Amino acid sequence: MQTLPKRFIERMQAWLGPEAEVFLQALAGPYRTGLRVNTLKIAPEAFRARSPFPLSPVPWCPEGFVIEDPEARPGLHPYHAAGLYYLQDPSAMVAALLLDPQPGEWVLDLAAAPGGKTTHIAARMQNAGVLVANEIQPRRASILALNVERLGVTHAILVNESPRRLADRWEGLFDRVLVDAPCSGEGMFARDPEAIRAWSVDRVRRSAGLQKAILFEAARMVRPGGWLLYATCTFAPEENEGVVDFFLKAHPDFDLVDPPRHPAFDHGHPEWVDGGDPRLIRAVRLWPHRGPGHGHFYALFRRAGDERPSRPRPESDLPGRARRALETFWAEAMTTPLSDEGLILWEDQVYRTPMAPALWRGLRVLRPGWWLGRLRKDRFEPDHALAMAVTSREVHRVLDLPLGDPQVTAYLQGHLLEGPWAEGWVLIALEGFPLGWARAERGRLKNLYPRHLRAIRWWEVPEGT
Ligand code: SAM
Repeated sequence: MQTLPKRFIERMQAWLGPEAEVFLQALAGPYRTGLRVNTLKIAPEAFRARSPFPLSPVPWCPEGFVIEDPEARPGLHPYHAAGLYYLQDPSAMVAALLLDPQPGEWVLDLAAAPGGKTTHIAARMQNAGVLVANEIQPRRASILALNVERLGVTHAILVNESPRRLADRWEGLFDRVLVDAPCSGEGMFARDPEAIRAWSVDRVRRSAGLQKAILFEAARMVRPGGWLLYATCTFAPEENEGVVDFFLKAHPDFDLVDPPRHPAFDHGHPEWVDGGDPRLIRAVRLWPHRGPGHGHFYALFRRAGDERPSRPRPESDLPGRARRALETFWAEAMTTPLSDEGLILWEDQVYRTPMAPALWRGLRVLRPGWWLGRLRKDRFEPDHALAMAVTSREVHRVLDLPLGDPQVTAYLQGHLLEGPWAEGWVLIALEGFPLGWARAERGRLKNLYPRHLRAIRWWEVPEGT
């Protein structure tokens, strides 16, 4: 690990006292990768039974594990392509536990890319309700889209906006809002040398200013009686207790909630802020020397009152041509009836949206819902996102491959698969978990695994990882 900034060490010693030594040792690593099982696709114990890598449980998250083999390359395993898990730091898994989103609610993740917390929230909501995942940086927003698609999330709208523009539009709309704020990233020091290089006290101060602005906008979107969770992956009190203290003073209608906590969690430290509100003790701090993970800070607020905004259900609005094409595809390829909820045509793309278009029209939207496919002339062509969010039982024709079958690698590399196959759509699956579409033509399977995903060099993955 690159040498830590002297000023950072001094500051941490001032706050932690003798505990700073073990803290700094833990920060230096070794870093163990966390893995969160995607419960939209598989139960934690069922995954553990088939896991190619040794796992130990994360003590506070039933679907969370730590990979015990430092040589494992879990990002390259076909189970990753099948969306069975998301690689996530154990301390980041606490966000969804504290936010506690429920199926059917309206939830906003205001700073969402690359999507670790969004996909965890989606799984906890069991794909029911409305999940808006916003990311201000366009490039990061595309990565968010890939992860949401890979994990089979169907009730999310992906947006690429500033918090201000959203708050002007969505005042009091959400039951729960998460602000996983951009921060000075001290918790990333163990695995990201760039975070060390970029660190300075000035950066800490600038981050705190930005965090206050984002949190204030986020608060406007919480309905009376709703919840707001503030999170950072940094240790600096200015960005944590300091931001929360400032927020509480300006928002008498928000109170800090004392959430259920695991014994490994620390509380907030009012004494680290000048004139700190005693309620800051209700915040949650995770440290790298007290459990698995880099460390995080959380503060959960509840807004006073109890008001449910009117939230119209989205109506289907598919032009006849698109509807006929979709119905023809569905009858040919799918075993379940086509539900008519929220079907819309967006340019040439067919989506199932969870949110009435009047609520999001005019915003920079990346995905207005679950992308089912495209209209090509009068034909419907299914999208990868459709494959990733169905089960293989929902598709008539499935080529279900066992792990280790060379056709799995061939498919993920974009090769044709040999037949004989009668003309039509075929779902390629790994042990029953969808990997993507193929189209049978002239007896062989034309590979429709997206080109941008094929760049991953699956064939270099060593045995057993
Ligand atoms: N929640 C994500 C996850 O779990 O995968 C990580 C989010 S990361 C800590 C913070 C995000 O805030 C970054 O993706 C960054 O692009 C975004 N961000 C940066 N400046 C912002 C701003 N002014 N308003 C909103 N988001 C911003």
